[in-house]
Amino acid sequence: MRKVVFLNSPKLWQGGFGPNHPLKQERLQRTYDLLHELGAFEASNVRVIDPIPPSYEELALFHTREYLDVVQSLSKGEIHIPASRYGFGPGDNPVFSGMFESAGLKVGCTLLGAKLLVNRDCEVAFSYSGGLHHAGPNFASGFCIFNDAAIAIHWLMNQGLRVAYVDIDVHHADGVQNAFYDTDRVLTISLHQSGRTIFPGTGFIDEIGVGEGEGYSVNVPLPPYTDDEIYLWAFDQIVPPLVERFEPDILVTQLGVDTHYLDPLASLVLTTHGHKTIFEKFSHLSSCWLALGGGGYDIDVVPRAWTLAFAIMSEQSFPTKLPPQYQAKYGGEWLEDQQAPQIDERVQALTKKRVEEVVGHVKERHGLS
Ligand SMILES: [Zn+2]
Repeated sequence: MRKVVFLNSPKLWQGGFGPNHPLKQERLQRTYDLLHELGAFEASNVRVIDPIPPSYEELALFHTREYLDVVQSLSKGEIHIPASRYGFGPGDNPVFSGMFESAGLKVGCTLLGAKLLVNRDCEVAFSYSGGLHHAGPNFASGFCIFNDAAIAIHWLMNQGLRVAYVDIDVHHADGVQNAFYDTDRVLTISLHQSGRTIFPGTGFIDEIGVGEGEGYSVNVPLPPYTDDEIYLWAFDQIVPPLVERFEPDILVTQLGVDTHYLDPLASLVLTTHGHKTIFEKFSHLSSCWLALGGGGYDIDVVPRAWTLAFAIMSEQSFPTKLPPQYQAKYGGEWLEDQQAPQIDERVQALTKKRVEEVVGHVKERHGLS
């Protein structure tokens, strides 16, 4: 049985951007509760481990010291700082008390996962609070304060490892792509809703990296209404061949599930069946797998999707119905979606055609055809 670590602390469920913000900490607590109610953490191959807050030096593997000082000061309530210059303010990234520690702990989860994998203490580590892929070296962006993925990948590179990063969040993985845009030691692949129609407005096919990094940034921009079948086809065309060709020492994946058809922030129309199939594909791609959370704004969907992910990581199967205690607390009935979105056939055919064109161009750009 594969040894799996789940990085968690109840502290991850506290604080946050506030009750009116789309990114609610509650989705983490619900995910933990669902896994707990299912007995997922009692399996002999599973360990739940508390994160260690990262050191300043570790945060500085990616972020500037100036930015770290700013986040620390804002976190303490300092008001004489031009917060908007660093991406903070009302809207996407409001300042909140304790945000340095809160954001830092998520980095701590992802970094500890990376360290346990490198020490061969586990084969899969799931940092479900991580995957904050938009943060830049000196700015917050898209609900992300610290870029745990970029920090952990820098740490892994410092151990001499080659890293493949695959991001299935509905939003382009701009922060991670930019962090490794000029190196051939990190392959980044992002499948996302096209930047033409969604934040952050980047992630086009011609963003392929620069200098030594040319060819090591891969973008698959997808049109609205991309469904399970079309998505999985595109994934198979691009991800396994590129990851296998790269021969990474470790696979890092960002498992944002805002591609779901019920997600309020985006327009792809995947179901949990599609997500489950993607997670299975990842589990076959590498025996050293650092899995991160990410986006997902339908609070009923996220816990179910990440529970399906954890089932695959830890080789467990769970009942099809949600546990009664979970149902009583949060509602819902089934672990997997019982419905699929109804998409007009003409729209579906046009979407498929568009995705085939995109995939054709990506394959050409990256020498797959
Ligand atoms: Zn997202």
